[in-house]
Amino acid sequence: MPVFKLTSHAKTDLYRKLPSVGEFLRSDAATALAARTGQIAVTNAARRILNRLRAQVTDGDLSAESLEQALSQLDATLEEEVQRSLTYSLRRVINATGVILHTNLGRAPLYLAALDHIRNTAAGYSNLEFDTDAGERGKRDKHVDRLFHQLLHRDPGADGASNHKSISTIIVNNNAAAVLLALNSFAENGEVIVSRGELVEIGGSFRIPEIMAKSNAVLREVGTTNRTSLGDYESAINENTRLLLRVHRSNFAISGFTQQPRLEELASLARRRKIPLMEDLGSGSLFDLRSIGIHEEPGVLDSLRGGVNVVTYSGDKLLGGPQAGIISGDRDLISRLRANSLFRALRASKLIYAALEATLLAYLRHDYDSIPALRMMRLSRPDIAKRAEAVANKIRSSRIKFQLMDGNSVIGGGAAPSAVLATCLLVLTSETLSCEEIVDRLGRSDSPIIARVEEDRVVLDLRTVFPEEDDQIVDAINTVLS
Ligand SMILES: *Cc1c(COP(=O)(O)O)cnc(C)c1O
Repeated sequence: MPVFKLTSHAKTDLYRKLPSVGEFLRSDAATALAARTGQIAVTNAARRILNRLRAQVTDGDLSAESLEQALSQLDATLEEEVQRSLTYSLRRVINATGVILHTNLGRAPLYLAALDHIRNTAAGYSNLEFDTDAGERGKRDKHVDRLFHQLLHRDPGADGASNHKSISTIIVNNNAAAVLLALNSFAENGEVIVSRGELVEIGGSFRIPEIMAKSNAVLREVGTTNRTSLGDYESAINENTRLLLRVHRSNFAISGFTQQPRLEELASLARRRKIPLMEDLGSGSLFDLRSIGIHEEPGVLDSLRGGVNVVTYSGDKLLGGPQAGIISGDRDLISRLRANSLFRALRASKLIYAALEATLLAYLRHDYDSIPALRMMRLSRPDIAKRAEAVANKIRSSRIKFQLMDGNSVIGGGAAPSAVLATCLLVLTSETLSCEEIVDRLGRSDSPIIARVEEDRVVLDLRTVFPEEDDQIVDAINTVLS
């Protein structure tokens, strides 16, 4: 609502007082600033400031006096605007939502050694595609393939003899790319059989039917939304069938009158009919989640042991590494992926190989607590409660009341959609600040804190907060909520 009722005549007078961009830029302060920071940043900032003032005049938000005042501070405003435009837009935030793999907050935080490895190998040259032993060109996948090979040992068997083919692994940009590459490589111009109960959409508009169309494969839907039998798959197989596809439901669960063949049954059908079976696992854990009480989330090894020929999964979901699409499976099938020119178009960068290699080495050493997402998943409720209590005791804000409450954290990232981890929540209430105001102020503090709103109350879940960030939460609350 306009603050001042100005006639259009009075507004014209105010517009006239605004300098032109050219005049603004010719001032001594603007010239000096441009010499330090470059002309482009200064010109753009001057334009933005003048546009803002003009809009304020148009909306009737400025009186003659307040415009005078704004014009007298123009140099300082310009300096501020330029400095802001020259700082990072991508910033660290504190995730107090309790969602461990939060896609909007960058999914898995990286293992510190992964960052060191990136720094050491990427700040200079590396042997990314150079075999230093042979002194000749090598392949970039070998840096991680060797580690996946050890981690995905399919079936050691009691006698040490493996009756399975050897597993190989390649990396692309993300799991969506992995699925696209695999469908295109195995089933271009042919049919892929998928259950109607698995035609999922993952956040960020990844939809199975659409990715299928882009890969030039024909989707052959079988069964119904809630029930699909082995017979449904079997009777859909014809001479154009190239692939059986199983898709992890990721972000929803079907309950009630349901049916789905076991993976082993599907694998045995695939073997009998000599058609490869692929599983898009989505999250793809390399860690046994049963050890933390989560039983409904199959890992990569479960998939391969169940007889799947090729499995696709993300690097930055349950694996806890960098963004990547990982494809593991029978060596002959993986080499078909490598031969597809799409593989070149979707390839991952040296930064990703470095981060992934370091993360996989932590798995091989069983050093799970170094991988932030795994450490967060393994935190116990009492551990979190102790920290929440310590934070609450340091709050000095008179406008905020604190309370500890039992609640749940979630894994996120399309893993175990119905699994929850018991946690202790810090509940913030205030008589003078609304829920939205609290969330907004926390989000705009120097270390932005992303909170969760539950039943009209702001809650902080320290499961996803790094312990060294606890004091930043205290500081933020004591400043922005006082
Ligand atoms: C998350 C997910 C994807 C997409 O993976 P990105 O790494 O985000 O590209 C595909 N399929 C399933 C089942 C998923 O859960």
